[in-house]
Amino acid sequence: MKASVGGYARAVDLRHALDLLAQGDGMARVLAGGQSLVAAMNMRLSTGDLLVDINHIAALKGVAREGDRLRIGALTRHAEVASDALIAQHAPLLRKATDLIAHAAIRNRGTIGGALAHADPAAEFPACVLALDATIHVNGPDGVRDIPAADFFTGVFETTLREGEILTALSLPVAEEGERQVIHELARRSGDYALAGLCVVRRKAGHRIVCISVGTHPELATAAMDKLDGGDVAGAVAALRDALDPPSDTQASAAYRRHLAGVLLERAIADLNGESA
Ligand SMILES: Cc1cc2nc3c(=O)[nH]c(=O)nc-3n(C[C@H](O)[C@H](O)[C@H](O)COP(=O)(O)OP(=O)(O)OC[C@H]3O[C@@H](n4cnc5c(N)ncnc54)[C@H](O)[C@@H]3O)c2cc1C
Repeated sequence: MKASVGGYARAVDLRHALDLLAQGDGMARVLAGGQSLVAAMNMRLSTGDLLVDINHIAALKGVAREGDRLRIGALTRHAEVASDALIAQHAPLLRKATDLIAHAAIRNRGTIGGALAHADPAAEFPACVLALDATIHVNGPDGVRDIPAADFFTGVFETTLREGEILTALSLPVAEEGERQVIHELARRSGDYALAGLCVVRRKAGHRIVCISVGTHPELATAAMDKLDGGDVAGAVAALRDALDPPSDTQASAAYRRHLAGVLLERAIADLNGESA
C-alpha cells in the first residue's frame, strides 16, 4: 500500500521547522530517517499529514564533547553512532546497541532522535539513554526544554514531547574511569526486534539496569540494581523477574520473557565481570 501524504516541506533551519510545525495545526509530523514514520504511513496508521523534513538542519547534526558531557545531535544516523570515535570512547553502550538494530539499510537512514521520539518499547536506544542517565534536549513553542531520560518515556510510543516540539539532541555524562556498559538481548533472527533485552551500566555510584521489550517503556530496575550493588547476583535476578510485567504476544509469552530477562541479566553481569556466561 502507498503512503497517504498531505504535503511535504523541507526545513532549512530549526526556526523554519518549528514554524512549519506550528502552521500544521496539529497535522504536521517531523520526518527524520523515515524508517518508522513512513512504514506507519504505508499501513495507514498515520495519514493526511504535512511532513516537515528536518534532514537538512545543520544544528541537529554532529557529536561533540562538552566538558564532562557528550552531546549527540538528533540527526545522528544509527550507522554514524556505530562509527563515531567519541561515542565509542565515551558511550560505548550506544555503539554496541547499533549491532542489534535492524539491518544496514535501516541503520544508514534511521536517526537516534527519531528512535527516541518514536519510543518503541522494543527499541534499543531508549533503554540505552536511560541506562546512561542522558538528558533529552527539545525546542518548541514553549522554548528550550531539557528533559531527563527518566521523565521522557511515558508509555508505548509515548513521550513527554509536546505538539510542535523537535528533539534536537541528547547529552550524557562521559564514561568515568573503569565504567562498564553492556547490552544483551535475544531476537529470533539477527536484526529482528528483541523478545527481551537489557542494558547494564556499572559506575562508582552503582549499577543502572534498564530492560527492553518487557514493559510499556524503559524504566530503571531499581530493586535489581540495589541487589546488584550489594553483590547479590541471584537476588538481582529474582528481583528483576519479580518486578517485570511483560506482554504476551505471538512472539513470546509473558512467562518466557520474564525468565529470559533473568537469564540476560546473568549474562550481562558475567560480561561486566569479564567472564563468559
Ligand atoms: C524493518 C525495520 C526493523 C527495525 N528494527 C529495529 C530494531 O531492531 N531496533 C530499533 O531500535 N529500531 C528498529 N527499527 C526502527 C529504526 O531504528 C528507526 O529508524 C527509528 O525507530 C526511527 O528513526 P527515524 O529517524 O527513521 O524516525 P522517523 O521514522 O522519521 O520518525 C519516527 C517518529 O519520530 C518522530 N521524530 C523523528 N525525529 C524527531 C525529532 N528530532 N523530533 C521530534 N520528533 C521526531 C517522527 O515524527 C515520527 O513520529 C526498525 C525499522 C524497520 C523499518
